[in-house]
Amino acid sequence: MTDLAARLAEVDQRIADAARAAGRDPSELTRIVVTKFHPVALVEQLYRLGVRDVGENRQQEFTRKAADAAALDGLRWHFIGQAQTNKARAIRAAASVVHSVDRPRLADALHGAGEPGDAVLDVLLQVNLTDDAGRGGVAPGELEALAAHTAALSTLRVRGVMAVAPLDEPPAPAFERLRRCAETVRRVVPDADWISAGMTADFAEAIAAGATHLRIGSAITGPRPDHG
Ligand SMILES: *Cc1c(COP(=O)(O)O)cnc(C)c1O
Repeated sequence: MTDLAARLAEVDQRIADAARAAGRDPSELTRIVVTKFHPVALVEQLYRLGVRDVGENRQQEFTRKAADAAALDGLRWHFIGQAQTNKARAIRAAASVVHSVDRPRLADALHGAGEPGDAVLDVLLQVNLTDDAGRGGVAPGELEALAAHTAALSTLRVRGVMAVAPLDEPPAPAFERLRRCAETVRRVVPDADWISAGMTADFAEAIAAGATHLRIGSAITGPRPDHG
């Protein structure tokens, strides 16, 4: 077994353990492998190991890698990074899911980037769990309005919420706030039951707080190559 295969298997075991400890069925969780800064060869290796969900956070790298990996049938790309509205077309062209819709203008841009005949795009509303407005995500108090705005756009489907745990507090209470944010969105879109949360350092806490989509990078890929 390669190191990559071993790390993937170990993380999947830890996910399954955390799910059972929380009284949840591991099969209801989607494990997204975050491949940012790694070459497309790593995506190909992961694909051969059965991975079908991968995540990227920078549009240019995402666009390039998705094109290079176009032959990998059934691979789903999750865009998890801050998105500029003028990149909406490129993001929409390659993403199966956009996790980072955090303002009405971005939702509008993604909607406007749809081409006739495109599938409806699955989106998550990114919530800022910190007090720092400079971090990505909508403030919890503005989430319901963003949900209503986005739900009205016919080419987007609101599936739930996404967040990154704050650096300056333990993840568990932050993920509990995210769970309440998910309930807020479900008052607007009743079937929006996805919660994208949990990274290498905190996926067990995220699973305990109801996460459905885990975004795990370095625990699986190994350390990221130097990116300056
Ligand atoms: C990089 C990144 C991850 C994965 O981080 P790891 O700590 O390597 O697991 C998850 N979510 C987002 C938004 C990221 O940018």
